[in-house]
Order: sequence, then structure tokens, then C-alpha cells
Amino acid sequence: MNFIPVNEPLLNGNEKKYLCECIDTGWISSEGPFVKEFEQKMSATVGRKYGIAVSNGTAALEIAVQALGIGEGDQIIMPTFTIISCAMAVTKVGAVPVLVDSDLHTWNMNVDEIEAKITSRTKAIMIVHLYGLPVEVNNILALAKKYNLKVIEDAAEMHGQTYNGKPCGSFGDISTFSFYPNKHITTGEGGMIVTDNEESAERCRMLRNLCFRKDVRYVHDEISDNYRFTNLQAAVGLAQLERLDEFVERKRKMGRYYTEQLKEIDGLILPIEKTDYAVNIYWVYGIVLNNNIHADNKTIQKLLAEEGIGSRTFFWCMHEQPVYRNKKLFFDESYPNAEYLARKGFYIPSGLALTKEQMDKVVDKLKKVMNQI
Ligand SMILES: *Cc1c(COP(=O)(O)O)cnc(C)c1O
Repeated sequence: MNFIPVNEPLLNGNEKKYLCECIDTGWISSEGPFVKEFEQKMSATVGRKYGIAVSNGTAALEIAVQALGIGEGDQIIMPTFTIISCAMAVTKVGAVPVLVDSDLHTWNMNVDEIEAKITSRTKAIMIVHLYGLPVEVNNILALAKKYNLKVIEDAAEMHGQTYNGKPCGSFGDISTFSFYPNKHITTGEGGMIVTDNEESAERCRMLRNLCFRKDVRYVHDEISDNYRFTNLQAAVGLAQLERLDEFVERKRKMGRYYTEQLKEIDGLILPIEKTDYAVNIYWVYGIVLNNNIHADNKTIQKLLAEEGIGSRTFFWCMHEQPVYRNKKLFFDESYPNAEYLARKGFYIPSGLALTKEQMDKVVDKLKKVMNQI
């Protein structure tokens, strides 16, 4: 059977050419010239002064949290419905994630819940833009100003997206990206931190690379991991970045096509095409089962797989993570909207290499599965 994978990236631009340059010149490590070029070009795309490329988006978040001096006992407000990378970056330094529920319309964090969660221990708000639409940034920036809080912006799914015409990735004191293959541009594995603050940038560079002391190498006042990014990754990234606008356009077209084909099916809540501040870029094409459907997302995923269609369930809430529950974190907390999305949301094949024929097959099979249940 011809299985349609949930994601396949498009690598038919200059990727091969730039990779061959790495091999021909011998520059394959993090010291190679493409790394700086990629940092400059990527940070310029989102209008930031500094870019620090790192091994992945999770590392970018960890470094961002540490660079802002967040530590033991500090509280960071963030959505419960997100990837573990966000919470882990916070718990790793002994700080505490303070969670907010989701908005069922955009699937992003419910901004209206934030203010009530601010305490004297709150140090930052972590904005996480999910599935293709940005969070309502202005409200958060106003709160951050009012209460003197830092803003970390996780723009891992937001390459090429804007909020009120301003690039996502330009809003945080520190903002982060991921270049995992299901993101709009990929480097295989990879991530980037962007900021306008020179001191933060310098701190991030230190934290990326074992915290070598500047004056004497191999002497360390503090420690961190090796989060370096290679010239090979940067080669792929530069080629991908050349096509960012084209990729975003393609994703939007794919998203609109899916919606057109799927809107008549009973039981499905489809992603909204736009809000008054942004047009969806469909990081992936997410779907949520409505209240009339008793099946959960895992059931749909299994039935789709039997029909040769790859899919994934949505994220699992932070307050329901066994690893945190076992540590008595988020004890007794509940966030009904996020719990609903985590149980009823899934996404269908939506990688950039997907063809129209494949999309038609996905639609057919999804119709069949929805009739079955
Ligand atoms: C993909 C993703 C990350 C993690 O990026 P990796 O490169 O896989 O470590 C973090 N946050 C969000 C919202 C993501 O979608």
C-alpha cells in the first residue's frame, strides 16, 4: 500500500548545492561560514538584530529561559496545551510553569486568563503560537509592561507568519524558532534564538557552547550543554530560507484546499482561515472532532492508518503529563478547553512535498473513516 506520511519536506532548491560546498571546502562543523550567514539572514527576516543558531527548538527555549536569568522558584505563565519543550525549559532550572487554558477558536492560549495568574513570583510570560495562527500578542505585551515581566516567544511553528503585519519572532525579549522537518523551513534538526538585546545575545552564545570563559578557553565559571549548530544544517537552512515566501504561500493554498474539500463533513471543526490580526499559515492542517462525535483522536488516527494515511494527535496538556503529576505539580488543576483539544484534535498529512493527488486521497479516506464511526 502507498502510505501517505504525515510530513515530507521539500528539499529541491539549493540544498544539495550548498551541502556539496560544505563537503568540498571541508567546513562541516559549527565553525563554518554558513552558520553566521544563516543567523544573519534568518534574524533579518523577522527584523531582529541578533540570531543564535542552536541544535534544535527545545535547546533554543532552554537557553532563552536561562539567558533571561529565570531560576529556582520563579513562575512563568504559559499555555498548558503545548509541547513539553516549553515546560521543560522552565522546570529544568527549578522554575514553575503557571498554566492557562486554550481558546477553542484559535487553539492558542486564552490571553484573558493571564492577568489573574500573575503573582509577585511571576518573571515572564511564554507566548506559544500554535498550529498556524499567532497568539493575541498585544494584550500580552501590555501585561508584560504593566507588571514588568519578560516575554519569551516560541515561534517554532511561525516562520513567515505575521501578527498585525509584524513578523512573529519579533515580539519576545527573546524569541525562538525550530527547524524540525515539519516546520515551514527545516534544517533536519535545528533551532534559533533571536533578540535585539546585545547582552542577551552574548549570553545565549555562551550558553550554546559550554560556557567557555572568553579570556581563557577550557576554564568555566558556569556550565551549560553543547547546543551547537553545524555548517551542514546551515547549508540546508539557507536554501530553505530562500523559499520561505513560496513555502508559506503553498501552505496557505494547501490549507484552503483542505478546508474546501472537508467543510461538508459532519463532525469536524476545521482551522479558521483568518482572524483580524493574521491569516493562517497552517503549520500543520489540524482538525478537531466536535461534540457529536464520540470517538477520540487516537481512534481516528488508527482508522486513517489502516487506510494508508499518516496522522498525529494534537499535543498532550502539561497539567496531565505523568512526569509532572508524579512530582505533584499541577495537582488537581484542570483546563477543559485544552483537555478537549488534546483528546479530539489531530492533524492530517500537510508537509510541503504533498501533492494534490495525495490530498484528494486523504480527503476521501477521512470521509470514509468519518462515515465508519
Ligand atoms: C517543534 C516545536 C518545538 C520544539 O522544537 P524541536 O526543534 O523539535 O526541539 C517547540 N515549540 C513548539 C511550539 C514546536 O512546535
